[in-house]
Amino acid sequence: MSHAEEPIDPAVERLRAMIRVPTVSRMAPALADESEFARFRALLAELYPLVHSRLELEVVGGGTLLFRWAGRSPGAPAVLMAHYDVVPADEPGWTHDAFAAELVGADGEQRVWGRGAIDDKGMLAVILEAVEESVGGGFQPASDVYLSFGHNEETAGDGAEAVVALFVERGIRPRLVLDEGGAVVEGVFPGVTDPIAVVGVTEKGIAGIELSVAKTGGHASTPVRNGATARLARAILQLEKHPPRASISAPTLAMIQTLGAHAHGPLGMLFRRASTFRPMLAAAFARLGPETEAMVRTTRAVTRLSGSAGDNVIAERATAMVNVRVSVGSSVAEATNDIRTAVDDPAVSVRVAYSSEPAPVSRSEGPVWRLLSDAITDTFPGTIVTPYVMLQASDSRHFAAISDGVYRFLPFDLRASERATLHAIDESIRVSTYRGGIAFFRRLLRAL
Ligand SMILES: [Zn+2]
Repeated sequence: MSHAEEPIDPAVERLRAMIRVPTVSRMAPALADESEFARFRALLAELYPLVHSRLELEVVGGGTLLFRWAGRSPGAPAVLMAHYDVVPADEPGWTHDAFAAELVGADGEQRVWGRGAIDDKGMLAVILEAVEESVGGGFQPASDVYLSFGHNEETAGDGAEAVVALFVERGIRPRLVLDEGGAVVEGVFPGVTDPIAVVGVTEKGIAGIELSVAKTGGHASTPVRNGATARLARAILQLEKHPPRASISAPTLAMIQTLGAHAHGPLGMLFRRASTFRPMLAAAFARLGPETEAMVRTTRAVTRLSGSAGDNVIAERATAMVNVRVSVGSSVAEATNDIRTAVDDPAVSVRVAYSSEPAPVSRSEGPVWRLLSDAITDTFPGTIVTPYVMLQASDSRHFAAISDGVYRFLPFDLRASERATLHAIDESIRVSTYRGGIAFFRRLLRAL
């Protein structure tokens, strides 16, 4: 007896078909295989015929799919977002081939393997499953629902921006925008044992800040003290020594208070009174570990270093790229100034290579928040819904300019081991998790 007796689930088969098309985004656009993206779009039309025949479709920005599902009456629309590009799966060590979409295991542990199973073809598939089924059942949403499926999210491409530009042009202001982000998780917050749905109400800003030192070079056999590389090294150490101040932003405070209401013991008491202990909590979070530290301050990671091109050549110019994630409540300008102050060396020039400010904070109360959190608790009974600050950047940040209801949430219950596979080896999704995602969107659509 094998597991071949497990009945075939067509919704699972559709996700598997999507994973098998390697729509890999590469930093050098020329390296991305455009034909796979075209093949993927054709596959979607085959898999979801009703979505493609009953909804209007525009291809925006060279590959982003924008569907409009007409509502029964006019009114601010909702936008459901996902992206169909994936990060490469070049690393060795995958247990099951990254693009074979194998279905392995049985019962609650049966899972689909492959790059994109969660991020973000999983999300794309659960949206499409729910919409296809609803259209088939004759359902029509109260007001318009847009589906915006990006083709270059993983390389911070311009697909979502192009959709927002189109909305601006047409005067469309969505009341709800939902994109990837938090998930249903357990055991991440001290003192809380219930599952938690973390819904991103904002996200940190991001900046690439380059430090550079220019000095006279020369031959490596006759070095001069305090050359470009030494000055740069000192600057980098200064950054480590003088981290930006730690503080609890308003949405992080809201998270601590929400979860504090469910936390046991003395920690619960502390969290419930978080507004009184704000500075103390900020200091504690900064010391607890890299994840909690990233929640309370702007972070800096020196990612790329360069000096001279030859072993025996003294660098005339040495550079370091600092990847900065800007705290909500701070700004790119403040982060840049903090770096200048910390480095405190006129020989080191500080230049912002690219940047985007922290996103505005969406409301964690009111009717839009409520319909979202109701769909979550109906799907995942016993789950605490909390706002949080997403640490990574997502495509949805562009929508903050035209909507104050932008939320970042994957309707999947994900274990820590599963979250660790995103952008790494062995990405896979449990079939039960996938089915939960479809159930969530089924409920959400009814409420729109
Ligand atoms: Zn993603």
